[in-house]
Parts: sequence; structure tokens; C-alpha cells
Amino acid sequence: AATVPLLELEGVEVVYDGSVLALKGVSLVVPEGGVVALLGANGAGKSTTLKAVSRVLAAEGGSVRRGRIRFRGEAIDTRTTAELVRRGIVHVLEGRRLFRQLDVEENLRMGAYSRSDRAGIRSDLEEVYALFPRLRERRKQKTGYLSGGEQQMAAIGRGLMGRPALMLLDEPTMGLAPAIASEVFAVVRRLNTERGVAFLLSEQNLGLALRVAGHAYVLESGSVSFAGEPAALAGAGRAEAAYFGA
Ligand code: ATP
Repeated sequence: AATVPLLELEGVEVVYDGSVLALKGVSLVVPEGGVVALLGANGAGKSTTLKAVSRVLAAEGGSVRRGRIRFRGEAIDTRTTAELVRRGIVHVLEGRRLFRQLDVEENLRMGAYSRSDRAGIRSDLEEVYALFPRLRERRKQKTGYLSGGEQQMAAIGRGLMGRPALMLLDEPTMGLAPAIASEVFAVVRRLNTERGVAFLLSEQNLGLALRVAGHAYVLESGSVSFAGEPAALAGAGRAEAAYFGA
């Protein structure tokens, strides 16, 4: 029998403000333990796809008007974001959205807001610091003063505090220097191989995304224009074409 995928979108249509059609029937699959890249030009619908899954969409005037979203085979279209966090879906939003007036550790603890196991939270905090030694050094610093790379690490670290099975990462390397972007992806790979965390990530840096992802989807104007192995995508020049409108 076919195994149930971790996440499955089937013909998902999203409208904003009741009229702007941002997704026109997107279907995709994230297998258990998989890393899937969402590629495409600005405005193609990458962020919207992630927001549809995490239900952050509802807070932004968007709604799924057609199609199905299933997590472990169960329809999750009507869950709240908080419920989804408890089920293991954590969304690290574009722009990181940290609480800039709070320090690093306070931000990390925010990621565990749905949990009450104090010992578990403490040991997960230690794990995040082991993964990102820079965050340990800066744990008493307000996140508003961190570098872009440190902020991204704090955002991912905060997400990890929710103990995700699936992490939705929206353009995690945006605005980062190449060396820092590589570091972020090294962490993604490590979390995937060592902890089995699955990822659905949108990314502008094709080279990085294609190296880490097992599967890629290209979005064009709210529709999937390519789905397949990253190598095939790179070879066909399809991703570049999608970005540059060729
Ligand atoms: P970017 O990299 O610029 O974030 P994207 O591929 O993630 O691009 P989305 O942000 O998902 O694209 O946007 C898809 C479409 O939906 C665009 O036409 C955009 O203008 C529209 N859109 C996004 N958010 C909203 C909103 N809150 N209200 C109305 N329209 C929106």
C-alpha cells in the first residue's frame, strides 16, 4: 500500500480579500523526513503556499477556497496555527518576525509557548544553543541588535522549540551573505538527517536549495510549472527560466 505523505496539498486555491487569486490549484507532497524546495519569482505564490499550510493565511485576509491540505492523512484546513504547532507544523516566516525588544532566550522560549514540560524545554534550549553557538553567546541580547544571519538562526531556533515534524521556512537566506546562507542550509541538512525534521522551504538561492532538497517545485503565477528532482531542474534551466521570466 502507498504510504501516507507527511504533507499533501491537492488542488489548493487561495484568494486574498475574496478576489485576488494567488494560488490556482497547487498540488504538492512532502514525504516523511523529506526536504522540498519551493522555487519561483517574487509574487509567484511561495509564501502564500506556506501560509496556507500553517493557516497564517487567515490572519492576512487570505483563504483556501478550493482543494485539500492534509497532514499525516488528516485534513487540516480548518485548524488554527496554534493547533498545528502542537501537531508538529512550525512556520518560520519571511523576515524572521522576532520580538525585537526581547532577548534571544526570551524569543526562543516563545517557541515553546504551547508546551508545559519545563525540563524538556530546558533541554531543547540547550540543543538549540549546541546547534547555534552564536545564540548562546548572545542569549541576553535583544534580537533587534543581532546580525541578519543571527536573526535567522534565532528564528529557526525558536521554531525548533516547538519540536516540529515539519518546518516551513520562508526564504531563510534572504539578505544573507553567501557564507552565512551556507551555514543556514548546513543546519537544515543536519536537522533533517539527525532529527528527521522534514522541510518545505521557499528559496531564491537556487544553488543552495537544489543541493539540499530531494524534490523541487517551481511556482509561476500561482501554479506549479515544474515538479521533479532538483538535478533535472538545474539541467533543464527551468528554475532560472522561472525566475527571469524566460
Ligand atoms: P515573494 O518572494 O515576493 O514573497 P511569493 O512567491 O512568496 O513572492 P506571495 O507572497 O505568495 O508570492 O504572493 C502571491 C500573490 O498574492 C501576489 O500576487 C501577491 O501580491 C498576492 N498577495 C500576497 N499577500 C497578499 C495579501 N495579504 N493581500 C492581498 N494579496 C496578497
